[in-house]
Amino acid sequence: MTATHEHGTPEIELRVEALESLLTEKGLVSPAAVDAVINYFEQDVGPLNGAKAVARAWLDPDYKARLIEDASSAFNELGITVRDNVIAVENTAEEHNVVVCTLCSCYPWSVLGLPPTWYKAPAYRSRVVREPRKVLAEMGLELPKSTAIRVWDSSAEIRYMVVPEQPQGTESMTENELEALVTRDSMIGVAQAAQPNAK
Ligand code: FE
Repeated sequence: MTATHEHGTPEIELRVEALESLLTEKGLVSPAAVDAVINYFEQDVGPLNGAKAVARAWLDPDYKARLIEDASSAFNELGITVRDNVIAVENTAEEHNVVVCTLCSCYPWSVLGLPPTWYKAPAYRSRVVREPRKVLAEMGLELPKSTAIRVWDSSAEIRYMVVPEQPQGTESMTENELEALVTRDSMIGVAQAAQPNAK
């Protein structure tokens, strides 16, 4: 199977850089403002879409089944349009999923926003395949030996998101409350969903 990993041509990236430089030079935007916008997409807009679907899936097993079966349609049900071909994979006590793009940085932008810097780092991309348990432990996620780890390699055609396990003790929480527990990292698979009291 051939996988492509196109994120825009170098010319487009150069044009973006040129525009940012020009706007900064003319005093129209500050680099800090640009960073703030990027941070907004990285932290809020993107992961929020994924988090909405995960929270719904926790509350509604039928929805979860549809999300695993056909993520795009399941997102559409929530009024979210998915531009990537996203496949959702579910964490269980027996199997933990983690996502990488070994070739570059393919990532489900429309549901998770911008990828974190470490996602694009060669160290993460190469090591998480070879020694996922060790890499996850280093990132603060210690998994029991009895939990198998499955690594999903994203490409431009197929981009994965993880449906983390619902934290214990959150059964009576509302959908909005649950959403807040679904972090970006938990949907990449390098963390569990947040504990309610950890907020
Ligand atoms: Fe890629």
